[in-house]
Amino acid sequence: MASGRVYLIGAGPGDPELMTLAAVRALGEASVVLADELVDRRCLAHTKGRVIDVGKRGGCASTSQAFIERLMIRFARAGETVARLKGGDPFIFGRGGEELAALHAAGIAVEVVPGITAGIGVAASLGFPLTQRGLASGVTFVAGHSAQPANWRALRDAGTTVVIYMGLARLRALVAEMLAGGFPPRMPACAVQEGTRERERAVFAPLGALADCVESAALAAPALIVVGETLTRAAAHSQGEHSSHVCGHH
Ligand code: SAH
Repeated sequence: MASGRVYLIGAGPGDPELMTLAAVRALGEASVVLADELVDRRCLAHTKGRVIDVGKRGGCASTSQAFIERLMIRFARAGETVARLKGGDPFIFGRGGEELAALHAAGIAVEVVPGITAGIGVAASLGFPLTQRGLASGVTFVAGHSAQPANWRALRDAGTTVVIYMGLARLRALVAEMLAGGFPPRMPACAVQEGTRERERAVFAPLGALADCVESAALAAPALIVVGETLTRAAAHSQGEHSSHVCGHH
């Protein structure tokens, strides 16, 4: 039997309208879908294939990365069209690079379908830009769970908006690291839970007050932290349809 192919697909941040046409097409072709836990279930409406949840979340019971890679290879070799569906974009903190390498090593045809990464989705949903002339000359996506801390001083000096993924559990330590790296306590910041989804909740606060504000609002993962001057442009949207509040501005 001819070997099948694998689509490595980004499903976007949650709202199913934020999937690409290519993602919808690939899901339509798939006979089997390996879906991450971050993927909004509404995105699965586009497939008639068998859906296998291979949810992975920090700290929880999870399917091992090696097992997922073997599973994809086994299905493809059996002639299946495999959709590997991930939250956001597969190449932004999605281990897409590792999966691509494993599939290439196994000689399997792969097509990568990009997705809107959570940081981009959240900025649009809350209505603030990530870059803006005079406020932020760029944007940096960093992982916050890392045992190896980011070089905050360099990020501060670069003057870019900082979007932190997987940082909620370490928020207090992260903020302390950022302040020690020269980020001013008054720098606008926010934490956003389940951005672009029905249960989206956002808390805006100066960086120095963010951890207390997030704790009293009891935000939960998945959540992003965004820090930068462009957040001041979100004011008009903070009374939007989703739950969003401003904290610690005194
Ligand atoms: N590949 C994904 C990121 C996976 S890492 C992407 O490109 O978006 C998982 C982290 O992404 C979560 O811990 C959280 O920080 C962030 N995240 C993903 N979806 C999110 C959402 N809808 N709202 C807020 N944060 C989200």
